[in-house]
Amino acid sequence: MIWQNLHSHTFYDDGQCTADMMVQGAIEAGLDSVGICCHSPITRQDTTWCIKPKDINDFKHEVYMVREKYKQHIDVYCGVELDLMTDEKFDLFGFEYVIGAVHFLPLPDGTEEHLKNETIDRIPTESGGVGIMYREVDFSREKLKYYVDYGYEFDAAAAAELYYSQYLKLAKNPNVDIVAHYDLITKFDEPVDRRKQDPEPIFDIEDKAYLEAAFEGMRALVKSEKIFEINTGAVSRGYRDSFYPAERLLREIKNMGGRITLGADAHRPEHAGFMLEEAAEYAVKCGFEEVWVLEKGKFVPVPIRE
Ligand SMILES: [Zn+2]
Ligand SMILES: [Zn+2]
Repeated sequence: MIWQNLHSHTFYDDGQCTADMMVQGAIEAGLDSVGICCHSPITRQDTTWCIKPKDINDFKHEVYMVREKYKQHIDVYCGVELDLMTDEKFDLFGFEYVIGAVHFLPLPDGTEEHLKNETIDRIPTESGGVGIMYREVDFSREKLKYYVDYGYEFDAAAAAELYYSQYLKLAKNPNVDIVAHYDLITKFDEPVDRRKQDPEPIFDIEDKAYLEAAFEGMRALVKSEKIFEINTGAVSRGYRDSFYPAERLLREIKNMGGRITLGADAHRPEHAGFMLEEAAEYAVKCGFEEVWVLEKGKFVPVPIRE
């Protein structure tokens, strides 16, 4: 087995450490290789968790420096977590891999009448129309529930449908290698988080309409040969008991002939290799025999048990 985590963040976005500290964390975790990535800039909307365009060169430089510094101990790669909201002209030069992500839910016209506590920032459409408002699905349970209730008239399956439909667009981006946390909209639905607030999950993940929406996005992503990430990040940060994607979805990804990789979505050095062994066991449980890792600029399959 080759232990690799390509999904880790630094102070350049919402991470809690330098690239150097993250690489040290990866060495301590016994990883063979680690990828340091940054959240791509989103200039159309205010965000606090993305890298600033002016910092991108410094970020790449810093990652290349630590790669050199630790080359006797571990392989280091430089990547980007590319949100679908990032400008399509964003320059990917110098990034060795791309993790595609959908962090936003589009909200229909009229939602703003209900969102009294929120600043409205409709994004103009290319034709100059009124545009669609987007909101982060992973900020807080309260906010996400608010968007579902007022944007989608309490119809969570309808919200899920719009969320997952965005992956059809992500599938068309030839630069994307990996799909991050596919069912991120369920972040706040597990008991570990619900105990604190509301006993009911927002989404019914066994609901037929929910599953069909999720499956449709998966089909497009599998067809365009994207690699799905088993993401342990919400567990390390105490939001969930289980990894993304949910078992029902992961088994279906396997049925569809999809490929997987393991990712810690680490924001602290001590999470650099968080529960990757358990993630590999979870993959085996769902029928997978191999994970895909980046080696010398190419994704290659590695048997989970040798
Ligand atoms: Zn993400
Ligand atoms: Zn991330």
